[in-house]
Amino acid sequence: MIDFGIVGQGLAGSWLAMTLIQAGYSVLVIDDAQPDSASRIAAGLLNPVTGPRLTLSPHYPHDWHYSIARYRALESQLSTPFLTEYPMSRLLNNASERVQLAQRLQNPLFASLVSPSLPPAGWQSEFGAITYPAHQLNMTVYLDAIRDFLKANKALTTTTVSLDDCIVETDTVRWGAHRFSALIFCSGARDVAQRWFSEIELKPAKGEIVEIECPGLSPAQIVNWGHWLCPSDTGLFKLGASAYWQWSTPEPDPKHVAHLVADLRSRLTIPFKVGKATAGIRPSARNRRAIYGFSRQSPRIGCITGLGGTGTITSPLIAERFVQAWRNTPFFPLRLL
Ligand SMILES: Cc1cc2nc3c(=O)[nH]c(=O)nc-3n(C[C@H](O)[C@H](O)[C@H](O)COP(=O)(O)OP(=O)(O)OC[C@H]3O[C@@H](n4cnc5c(N)ncnc54)[C@H](O)[C@@H]3O)c2cc1C
Repeated sequence: MIDFGIVGQGLAGSWLAMTLIQAGYSVLVIDDAQPDSASRIAAGLLNPVTGPRLTLSPHYPHDWHYSIARYRALESQLSTPFLTEYPMSRLLNNASERVQLAQRLQNPLFASLVSPSLPPAGWQSEFGAITYPAHQLNMTVYLDAIRDFLKANKALTTTTVSLDDCIVETDTVRWGAHRFSALIFCSGARDVAQRWFSEIELKPAKGEIVEIECPGLSPAQIVNWGHWLCPSDTGLFKLGASAYWQWSTPEPDPKHVAHLVADLRSRLTIPFKVGKATAGIRPSARNRRAIYGFSRQSPRIGCITGLGGTGTITSPLIAERFVQAWRNTPFFPLRLL
């Protein structure tokens, strides 16, 4: 019998699998390699200061540094670099953001991270800017490195899990020829495990990212003004991201793409070309908190979900909390990160 079956190899399933393996458990990840999963589409930014109120992440600094350290350790283990530190320039949009900044700078923790600055070359912002260190996870390189590791360890199967094929018995979960002590759904916004988690209220948010070609622009920075422009491994830039809760198709919506591009034109003074758009669905929870734990009705079925728009920083944390909680109390009830 295998200790854990994990459905999904996005950010949630990847970190859970690696953390369980490091803790000595046996694992089989089952993933259908959806090319437009949130994790494959995401820009991979780890940004500690967000929103018009310049809010410092609740995970900063302790959990933030912990997650970065876990990525660095994984880069060494897999001999693959995938996390890059960049300066992030946050352009201030209006006078009220300047007032907000003055208040935030009273907080020594915020002031130790953020410095007031000029907008970077090629960008306009009449209200100035701030600069602070941020990171970008190269999603393709990271997810492929984990995939290769799992494959090499015979811990990955590529297929779709149908709920009807998951048979929960008293002391095991059966899926095809496999038996698991527990089956954990890390399946993102596809609400596959809803049958077992009726108490979880997901509010998925669709988002677009657009490829931008701009040879005159420095590739060694991220610029953020509510939307952002960041480096891409193709040598182009990624412009993102839209966020909305109602849509009729998973394809990129031309209206939202046009809005992103117009917003970039209002900020970037250097000419640029617009490339391909992609879209994905963030697995956001109604209360904006990530969730982990086991089903009340069927305690051998677990989940990690609700990573929303911050899966890069929260996925190492939630995986670690999951394994700690399991060691104290196997089949523990749902918890919020
Ligand atoms: C446009 C956009 C930009 C974003 N930018 C950022 C960012 O810059 N920084 C950040 O931190 N976050 C960002 N996010 C959010 C981030 O992508 C998510 O938080 C994260 O990817 C969620 O990971 P997950 O593993 O929960 O789900 P997913 O990435 O959706 O992974 C689920 C996996 O499960 C598989 N799967 C699903 N159902 C089944 C099944 N029945 N059988 C087998 N396999 C199955 C899928 O193929 C997939 O591989 C962005 C999201 C979007 C949409």
